[in-house]
Amino acid sequence: MQDSYGRTVHYLRVSITDRCNLRCAYCRPAAAIEPANHPWVLSYEELLRLCGLFCSLGFDKFRLTGGEPLVRRDLVPFLSRLRARLPSASLALTTNGVLLARYAEALRLAGLDRVNVSLDSLDPVTFEEITGSKGIEAVLAGIGAALAQGFSALKLNVVVMRGVNHEEIPRFVERFAGSPVYVRFIEFMPFGINGWDRERVYPYASILRDLEARFTLTPRRRDGSGPSRDFDVEGAACRVGIISPLTRSFCEDCNRLRLTSDGKIRSCLFSEEDVDLRVLLRSGAGDEAILSAIGQAVASKPREHRLSADTTTPSHFTRTMRQVGG
Ligand code: SAM
Repeated sequence: MQDSYGRTVHYLRVSITDRCNLRCAYCRPAAAIEPANHPWVLSYEELLRLCGLFCSLGFDKFRLTGGEPLVRRDLVPFLSRLRARLPSASLALTTNGVLLARYAEALRLAGLDRVNVSLDSLDPVTFEEITGSKGIEAVLAGIGAALAQGFSALKLNVVVMRGVNHEEIPRFVERFAGSPVYVRFIEFMPFGINGWDRERVYPYASILRDLEARFTLTPRRRDGSGPSRDFDVEGAACRVGIISPLTRSFCEDCNRLRLTSDGKIRSCLFSEEDVDLRVLLRSGAGDEAILSAIGQAVASKPREHRLSADTTTPSHFTRTMRQVGG
């Protein structure tokens, strides 16, 4: 589908739960948020119907996220059914990796194509400071299991925060130099009250400078849609990418919508307006009405978000990544 600015929107990020088994400081607001009421969370039946409708509109890439998608019961059978419903779509998952070793093989067999794993530190103490968990070994085992299953282009997401983990940037490349992964460094974004402060943003230019001080990088051609600027690393199997929503926005290429776990479409990660599909689904709406609501959400995609590294009122964005679906 084309939006009002001529962008083709064909990628849906589907949050299947807002529950999570980690408590990452940058994702959780200072005042704990309650998970969505269980009855509000879309059932797998509802998700299958919606994904089928999105597919009929030309959406061909679906990413399951959350919260932590692997904490939702019966995810693997759901994925098998989703694969059967969408035989030629790209199906991906974003996970914190804690439970990935347990599920990697079953996910592969169910038809999952791609996995992104979040890992913000290689140091157990810093990992625990950020996530509130001692689970670093489980995450590393999950990454190993995903590689063993042959998931192509495994991506590791590292949120970089000045004074917290920015000094680890080269270490990530060294650690994964022998593996066919993309290590993607992400600028720290403001959401709700998540401890964001512009002083803690470690911008694109600094990440690139730190990488170039240690490695020889060659820019890769952009595929025209992903948010990441990617580079080959001389002598390494891994690649690196930098995602810079604050200092080098990628809105002009944005191709996505987000579906929250309680059934609302967000046309931009930072917009505060939703199109509520749950109400439609549960009031017995026919396919035409739902397709029209999806069209409305695509049409309402803003040209760009209003965020920059100079943002001073981060609490303006009241929903966290965990709620919107990262
Ligand atoms: N639980 C899964 C995970 O950890 O990957 C999926 C959900 S998580 C919200 C999705 C992604 O959003 C993660 O890579 C996480 O690091 C990123 N994220 C969350 N809050 C962020 C923030 N304030 N700035 C940048 N990235 C953030």
